[in-house]
Amino acid sequence: MDTIITTQTADQPVQGQTVTEKKRPSRQDAEAAVRTLIEWIGEDPSREGLQDTPARFVKAYQELYRGYNEDPVVPLQRTFKEVNGYRDMVLLRDVEFFSACEHHMVPFFGKAHIAYYPSDGVVGLSKLARVIDTYARRLQTQETLTAQIIEVIEKTLNPRGIALVMEAEHMCMSMRGVQKKGVSTVTATFTGVFEEDQTKQDRFMTLIGVR
Ligand SMILES: [Zn+2]
Repeated sequence: MDTIITTQTADQPVQGQTVTEKKRPSRQDAEAAVRTLIEWIGEDPSREGLQDTPARFVKAYQELYRGYNEDPVVPLQRTFKEVNGYRDMVLLRDVEFFSACEHHMVPFFGKAHIAYYPSDGVVGLSKLARVIDTYARRLQTQETLTAQIIEVIEKTLNPRGIALVMEAEHMCMSMRGVQKKGVSTVTATFTGVFEEDQTKQDRFMTLIGVR
């Protein structure tokens, strides 16, 4: 089946990129900041086990926050129109994501379930997961994360409706503050036909196993 049809152009700036390359501190600056934090918690950054920690920390941050270097529009640019007239729901269930809360820079992570009704072609399934990952790998609130994913899919694919449910455990709740373990925070957004048609919304919830 040969299927690739359109390529849309990205005329939007990368969302969430507020720090330009110019203004970014150097890697050395970042490592020095980590050493300061290590000292601040009462540790000795020069002891053997911690000597390379600032470098490792900064390297890990590059990976954990790689979403700032990615444009979420890109994976959605290639759409497939030759799907034998398929217009029913496309659903991705149990997409794992890892993010960090913008208030404490502590992880929150969980699963996303996303579905849409195509109007003008579909995207490769892994691409939706890429979009979720790009936004998740930034400093976030779960609410903003949910809204940003919806927004970019709406703008780029213009589907007849999108359903997105995200469930996550926030380590800033489990490890500090109220210290409630195993609490999951659920955010849900429905647009278009999912919002208008309760049976479509119910079907989605049944398929992802939420009642
Ligand atoms: Zn937090």
